[in-house]
Amino acid sequence: MRAFLKLFRLDTSDPELMRAQFHSFGGHIPLLYGILVSNTVAITVTCFDGEHLIKTLASPIVIAAIGITRAIWWLRWARSREWSDAEIAGHLRRTCLLAVILTLIFNAWVIWVYQGAGGYARSNLTFFLALSQVSTVFCLMTLRAAAMLVAVVSTIAFALYFSWIDGFQLLPQALVLCCVCGGMAVVTHSFNRSFAEVVRSRRTLALRQLETEKLSEENRRIAFTDPLTGLPNRRELLLRLDRLEAREGLAHNSLAVVFIDLDGFKLVNDEHGHHAGDALIRSVCERLARHCPDHAVLARVGGDEFAVLLEMHEGIESAQAQAVALALRMLEEIAVPVVVDRHVLQVGGSIGIAANIDPAGHPRELLRRADLAMYHAKTEGKGQIALYSEDLDKGRLRRLDIEAQIGNGLSRGEFDLVYQPIVDALSGTVVSAEALLRWPRRAEGALQPDEFIEIAEATGQIHPLGLYVLERACRELGSFRQLSLSVNVSPAQFRHPSFEQQVFAILERTGFPPERLQLEITESYLLANPERALRAVGMFKARGISLALDDFGTGFTSIHYLQSYGFSHIKIDKSLLVGMEPGSKATMLVAGAITLATALDMEVIAEGVERQQQADILRGAGCHEMQGYLFGKPMPLDEFTAHYHQHGAADVLPRRIGHTARR
Ligand code: C2E
Ligand code: CA
Ligand code: CA
Repeated sequence: MRAFLKLFRLDTSDPELMRAQFHSFGGHIPLLYGILVSNTVAITVTCFDGEHLIKTLASPIVIAAIGITRAIWWLRWARSREWSDAEIAGHLRRTCLLAVILTLIFNAWVIWVYQGAGGYARSNLTFFLALSQVSTVFCLMTLRAAAMLVAVVSTIAFALYFSWIDGFQLLPQALVLCCVCGGMAVVTHSFNRSFAEVVRSRRTLALRQLETEKLSEENRRIAFTDPLTGLPNRRELLLRLDRLEAREGLAHNSLAVVFIDLDGFKLVNDEHGHHAGDALIRSVCERLARHCPDHAVLARVGGDEFAVLLEMHEGIESAQAQAVALALRMLEEIAVPVVVDRHVLQVGGSIGIAANIDPAGHPRELLRRADLAMYHAKTEGKGQIALYSEDLDKGRLRRLDIEAQIGNGLSRGEFDLVYQPIVDALSGTVVSAEALLRWPRRAEGALQPDEFIEIAEATGQIHPLGLYVLERACRELGSFRQLSLSVNVSPAQFRHPSFEQQVFAILERTGFPPERLQLEITESYLLANPERALRAVGMFKARGISLALDDFGTGFTSIHYLQSYGFSHIKIDKSLLVGMEPGSKATMLVAGAITLATALDMEVIAEGVERQQQADILRGAGCHEMQGYLFGKPMPLDEFTAHYHQHGAADVLPRRIGHTARR
């Protein structure tokens, strides 16, 4: 019973459903009143009676007037503004009430007219009445309470009236009407349920969509932000540069990009761990942000790389000038030490700057140029600022060319080896040879090793190149049974995980005795990767291969440190020999190094000996071996062979083997 009564009650618990009902049947209501008014007019025309003007003219005019007024209200006002939930509930309630009242009035009027009408008019009346009832119910279908009330009220009124008048002659019609009403109630009910269902699922869909939008907004935020610093990342910066490109009226000379790369950050990470590295990055980025003007965008574009996009309106001079001023402030700020976990951490910065001077250029290009300029600042000794210029790009292209040519050159046999004698300081006999790489048959012209080796190191091509040198030198000098061989090894070669194995494999293939091989490495690698270096050095030593530290005196390594690594030799760099006169500072420095190394059981090779005076001083200071133009320039194999036959110690054991065996 309660469920039955609920069918007639207006449900205001779901404001959204109410709103949907309001808008849905709001569209039907003018139609409903239109039908009602035309039915009223039709009845008036069929049943007009001049003697009963109130019944057949005034009453229909009143009914039609109410209908027209309501239709106009719905047409003009119902959609004219946003109604609140409470107002909509009020309208719905009034609609239900008015539907019942109007139904009662209309029915009462029809019954009234019916009583005085003739047979033809009466059948017309029942037709119009049934029509009005059915159309009213259908038009109100979305508002279940109103539709049900109208159906029930009009059916009861008519069923009662028709079954009662004319001696029950119209009872069948009354029953049919009841059935129709029942049918309409069922349809209305199920229609209403599906309507509510549609509204609900639409709401769920909208909610889902909102959630999805929120989620994708969050995803977007994550994708375009650096999680560590909260700064925009490279992707976001590129997006902003793209947006600038799309912006009309952008003066292309009003942009500048400052590209910052930290110097020495890797060392902090390696020595103090990633936690300290992260803290340092956060601190640097906070401080950099303080120096950025409001309109600038600071982004973290790589592990220890930042970029600032400066947009200016004054023109190229000031764009670049402002970028330079900013870069100078940033360099100072980066160098300020930071305390992390009670450690004082300090890094430096290399900065590249590019200002857009190319009207057809894409703003993205600025980032690449600034990056290139930064790279230049880095290779020129770090801690500097470099401005982009076209020459940098030309240099880069040349490097790219050389990079491609190295691979080809290797397979086409364009490389050669030369050997430079290393002599025993006391006897002057050749005890060893340093193999040095040459590229004489390069199609574009010979290149100095200083130039192409640096490129090969940067691209990783030094691996095949280095192994080629080792294998060829081992083969070529294998038969010089009293001679040691020195081969240069780039720091980059250690990065190859199986470098040691590859060296051992070459020794096995060529049959070159490990005791006669010395590898020369520079200190940069030791500092950057102490653990890896220690492991490699240990493995080489275990096989009898000796190690020399090349270019000693150009870095900061202490001799003590070298000894802990197990170096058997240090090679004093030729730059230290330049000012070597009796009693000069350079002489004292070299002599001190020799004394200390000897005390720590390491031997000293002096490199770049050009003058007899240098040789005498070195010998006096206790230097063990010497290498330089004074004793012989690097020479091709046949020339070296002849030289060796003249100056080598053919009959005695090579000194170095003797020393190595002693260790
Ligand atoms: P480095 O290992 O310090 O080689 C010594 C360089 O000094 C050689 O230059 C040699 O020709 C030069 N030199 C020798 N005696 C004198 C002298 O009395 N006066 C002067 N002014 N110079 C002298 P080079 O052959 O041009 O090699 C330059 C650098 O290229 C080498 O420096 C080495 O770092 C690298 N390099 C050469 N060959 C190889 C190689 O096969 N592998 C690797 N990884 N690097 C190599
Ligand atoms: Ca060397
Ligand atoms: Ca050297």
